[in-house]
Amino acid sequence: MSSGTLQRLRNKAGYLLSSAAKHLSGGHRNCPSCGSAPAEQLDQKWLVTTFCRCSRCRLLYRIPTSDARENETFYQEDYTEGFTTDLPSAAEIQHLIATQFAGSEKNYAHYLAVLRALRISPGARLFDYGCSWGYGSHQLAAAGYQVDSFEISRPRAAYARTQLGVSMPALDSLQSASYDVFFSAHVIEHVPSPAAMIALGMRLLKPGGLFVCFCPNGSLTFRQRAPRDWHLMWGQSHPQLLDEVFLKHTFPQQPLLLHSAPLLHWNDPVHLKAVTAWQQKPGVSVGGLDHVEMLFATVKDDVPH
Ligand SMILES: [Zn+2]
Repeated sequence: MSSGTLQRLRNKAGYLLSSAAKHLSGGHRNCPSCGSAPAEQLDQKWLVTTFCRCSRCRLLYRIPTSDARENETFYQEDYTEGFTTDLPSAAEIQHLIATQFAGSEKNYAHYLAVLRALRISPGARLFDYGCSWGYGSHQLAAAGYQVDSFEISRPRAAYARTQLGVSMPALDSLQSASYDVFFSAHVIEHVPSPAAMIALGMRLLKPGGLFVCFCPNGSLTFRQRAPRDWHLMWGQSHPQLLDEVFLKHTFPQQPLLLHSAPLLHWNDPVHLKAVTAWQQKPGVSVGGLDHVEMLFATVKDDVPH
């Protein structure tokens, strides 16, 4: 058995024991994003974990919840997700850089196609939030964007900085209203509070800047199409999922684009069309929500907060 498999088993056992203890004590039930009580239960796993919608902010989240300290410990020491978290050797990273990640599962060509479809020009200042070991930040910079990044895991942040030259300024040193794009790929479903992450993005964006977020598609449209995949999406490492109900509630006035695609398929013209067509005007623009990966994008309004 590999050390990664063992680590996953240890994580799972610890997660189930801790969930059972929290379940018995009756706590850890309120929304991690806004603190309100759950409104309805949508799913259940392992007898002691349930998946609910928040009565106030409408987030889909797992009960029992994790607190920020558990989240921090998990991402420093325990989280393992194959190529996303395993640091490449010196030879592997040289090959990845030389080939611009072509053919690897971390190739960002499909995300770059979305940024181009959103009319984000090279030279734009982009913040890559939750960059893991820097594979995406590196490719975004190679495409001509001015990239600064953040990663909660210290070993992965250090790797991004030293091996890929990723710029990783301290979060509290960042100037408000200084980025054209706040970008994240498969981060918001992991964070202690999506509301806090969205607030950070809105603080860092210039007026008119774009918040661009890729995440698992938590929508009930996708659940109806692929119930088993949807059921497997939430759990220990995805304490919440985003869907159109939460996003429409969170961004009632701003322009909002919601769309989905199969993994690695955003550069297919069929999926790119709704992105290109989006006018960034107030109101919701919904593409298809049938596929596993959701994109949502919104515009920071011009009014200073
Ligand atoms: Zn809430």
